[in-house]
Amino acid sequence: MDTIPGIPAFPPVPDGFAGRLERLRELVDASLVPLEPLLLAGEREALEAALPAARARMREEGFWLPQLPVEHGGQGLGLFLHGLVSEQLGRSLLGHLACNCQAPDAGNMEVLIEHGSGEQQARFLAPLLAGRARSAFAMTEPGQAGSNPLLLETRAVRDGGDYVIDGHKWFTTGADGAAFLIVMAVTDPQAPPHRAASQILVPVETPGVRLLRNIPVMGEAGWGPFSHGELLLEGVRVPVGNRLGGEGEGFRIAQQRLGPGRIHHCMRWLGICARAFELMLDRARRRALAPGRVLADEGVVQAWLADSRAEIDAARLLVLATAARIEREGQKPARDAVSMIKFHVAGVLQRVLDRAVQVHGALGMSDDTPLAFWFRHERAARIYDGPDEVHRAALARRLLADPS
Ligand SMILES: Cc1cc2nc3c(=O)[nH]c(=O)nc-3n(C[C@H](O)[C@H](O)[C@H](O)COP(=O)(O)OP(=O)(O)OC[C@H]3O[C@@H](n4cnc5c(N)ncnc54)[C@H](O)[C@@H]3O)c2cc1C
Repeated sequence: MDTIPGIPAFPPVPDGFAGRLERLRELVDASLVPLEPLLLAGEREALEAALPAARARMREEGFWLPQLPVEHGGQGLGLFLHGLVSEQLGRSLLGHLACNCQAPDAGNMEVLIEHGSGEQQARFLAPLLAGRARSAFAMTEPGQAGSNPLLLETRAVRDGGDYVIDGHKWFTTGADGAAFLIVMAVTDPQAPPHRAASQILVPVETPGVRLLRNIPVMGEAGWGPFSHGELLLEGVRVPVGNRLGGEGEGFRIAQQRLGPGRIHHCMRWLGICARAFELMLDRARRRALAPGRVLADEGVVQAWLADSRAEIDAARLLVLATAARIEREGQKPARDAVSMIKFHVAGVLQRVLDRAVQVHGALGMSDDTPLAFWFRHERAARIYDGPDEVHRAALARRLLADPS
């Protein structure tokens, strides 16, 4: 079958898949949405007690690890179908966690599958796949511009059969309660920048690993998978066998991880947009401004609804077309498309959330809906995994070099 450049070619959707998505939507609404108030009220213990049953349910129904191959306990979905599943999961604050495909574990699992030795997979990957443990990815540092990861200060120095790691990391998502970290550290400062660093598995109980704090994000410090840690690594000694891949391959592995990571974020954001839109529509229909007149009768609210619908639908097509292209052609030819969706969908997400909050008035500022949580936490969508400006510049550079 021919494809025409710029015209999306979507892969076939298997028989019964639409019904599976409908079932997933029901499950999310029935078993995850009711748990959201626990997260929003900071009732950590109650949520931790309730999550295992919700996870078991997702597992029984065949939604566990949707993006991973069947031989690793996943559902074997390609990126396009995973996009559709992820959108449904993104409708709840707890969707991805319930199916064990939350960031950064999903990326760490993929890296361990791709680059982990048999021993590393048995020790580090197996507990992640089973949902018995979580992990974190520690690359960004407070003292250096994270937009240019070649500027790392963290060092891993060879000492016999060990690496001794010293460094300061921050915004390490989910470090609180993680079993291990994947740490990006310079292993050869003399090597060309792209060959200078390696990724090293560091169990958190290793002496010298200190979680200094969960960094408050827009006033909220978070916990466990909903936290971003600041970490000090002082004389942290781990065997050389904990390195992922070859020495100096850290950036190559990071690139492999960040491509899928970015589109996974976009897919999740589409789910957030979908839920925010549902909430906005419902509130607009029901909130009376005067007898016989509701918010939805106001032209400005109608414009917000129409603009949001148009922006969400367009973003959805762009993300799914990019997923289909990655499946068809691989990561590299789709680099521009990934850069484009990363900044574009982050912008759509922010505009839709902003309108949804506005339609809800004071309720939108409260934690009685998930909107304020998303509004606080997803401001970061325009920063993590490459700020908007970096993706725009990368896309523009390539367009200028090759406008075809
Ligand atoms: C909620 C959250 C979760 C995160 N999770 C993780 C994690 O799990 N692991 C991890 O390692 N890191 C994580 N990060 C860090 C994230 O990847 C970095 O914040 C990001 O790479 C930007 O780096 P920086 O914060 O140092 O900003 P800087 O590099 O200092 O950039 C600051 C600003 O400068 C501008 N800018 C930068 N480069 C350019 C350019 N080339 N052209 C024009 N303008 C530019 C952008 O506006 C940018 O926002 C997380 C961050 C957040 C906010």
